[in-house]
Amino acid sequence: MNKKLLGFGLAFLLANPLFSQKVAIEKAFNNQSALEDFRYLASDELMGRDPVRPEIELAYNYIASELKKAGAKMIPGADGYFQNIPFRMSSPPSTGQIKLDKNTFEQGKDLLVLDGKSISGSYELVDVGFGLEEDFQGKDLKGKIAVSNVGAPDRFGPADLFALGREKTARAQESGAIALIERFNVPSVPWQLVSNFLNRPTLGVDQGESSELTYIWIKDMDNGVRSAMADQSISKADLMISGKTNKNIDGKNVVAWIEGTDPQLKNEYVMLSAHYDHVGVGRPDAEGDSIYNGARDNAVGTVAVMNAARFFAKNPPKRSILLALWTAEEKGLLGSAYFAENPLIPLNQVIFNLNIDNGGYNDTSVITVIGLGRTTGDDQISKAVSEFGLKAIPDPAPEQGLYDRSDNVNFARKGIPAPTFSLGFQAFDDEIQKYYHKPGDHVENFDLDYAINYWKSYILAAQLIANDSSKPVWVAGDKYEKAGKDLYGN
Ligand SMILES: [Zn+2]
Repeated sequence: MNKKLLGFGLAFLLANPLFSQKVAIEKAFNNQSALEDFRYLASDELMGRDPVRPEIELAYNYIASELKKAGAKMIPGADGYFQNIPFRMSSPPSTGQIKLDKNTFEQGKDLLVLDGKSISGSYELVDVGFGLEEDFQGKDLKGKIAVSNVGAPDRFGPADLFALGREKTARAQESGAIALIERFNVPSVPWQLVSNFLNRPTLGVDQGESSELTYIWIKDMDNGVRSAMADQSISKADLMISGKTNKNIDGKNVVAWIEGTDPQLKNEYVMLSAHYDHVGVGRPDAEGDSIYNGARDNAVGTVAVMNAARFFAKNPPKRSILLALWTAEEKGLLGSAYFAENPLIPLNQVIFNLNIDNGGYNDTSVITVIGLGRTTGDDQISKAVSEFGLKAIPDPAPEQGLYDRSDNVNFARKGIPAPTFSLGFQAFDDEIQKYYHKPGDHVENFDLDYAINYWKSYILAAQLIANDSSKPVWVAGDKYEKAGKDLYGN
């Protein structure tokens, strides 16, 4: 190459702010600490980072102490670097049976006791439709069992069923009912899947008194119970539910913040988040490995946020940075849901959430952004990753419903533009399934050069958004556009 041209090229590159930002990240990023974090979080010592196992403490203490060392600050109202969550683990009953007229429903087969106390006896049933506020009005439920359909007329997603169930148990409790039975009749959510998932100890947030209310699902795919109740051929139920145990567990989100430099923009926060929990110990694989280490899901994301903290504490952007490592994502997005309902920073000051979650990767030349195409933050994300030789691509497997299956959705529903910055995958194929929720999801079989590139490009994407004079919004017509307008009042 011509020397003069080379000089010109260098001058051009140095004058390019994006390039110099990239260089600054390259310089500041400590590969060794990042890889140490990665290896530790995915080590056998942490036993798969299950929020109901004692080893979870090692994970959250490690993350918190690294955030502190990095210089990230405690959020007022938090418990140091933690947001405490009162979890409650509810185990299935040893005996669970309900007789409705001639039909007997059995625990694990066509009956699931989800929460509450053991209960036995014969009780009157009261149909409360979908169990909405208005459905309970004017009904005498004292000492009776409220019976509703699961979900709501326009809400049948798996997360909706649980969220609405919580609201209904609270209403049933208030109205003096002694139990809530929901008729499960949603064809899009296979009963068998639900039953396999829920016929074991399940974790939820302790709802205080209403957690004591016996809460049951019965299988009613053909709406047989529904119509039998409508024509009053069923009005009573015989319950025999015994041997239920409930246990309180301390849950912890790890949270911190970094103050922005701009006197105005620092009142706005870019939330960088990832769940740090995984699925714990389970069925062993062919090699006899039973620890689900979750390197891809989601130690790699936790490390990204921790290293973003290290970088931004020394190089704060104009907007403030909110750092959030969620617990119990794998138990139903519980940690992020708790923060969304009990935010330590007002949600209308959180202008963007760059979340991370992962199943795995099958293309190290791309970054898969779940939610690309849905917010005006796309440009900044695409620019950032291409600076690291990567290409941002949208969700290649919309049939998986990934957007609505991770923590970002709890904030999207509130109106916050919230894509998930994932490892590169072109399809949810065998290569992904090989590691996704498998004991073999190890650091040892992870392409570490790619990991480092992924972490750095995440930091640059966050930096561009946090410095941008305009703030990203939902694209017109998006499902969450209205929620965004409601939240930010524009
Ligand atoms: Zn995950």
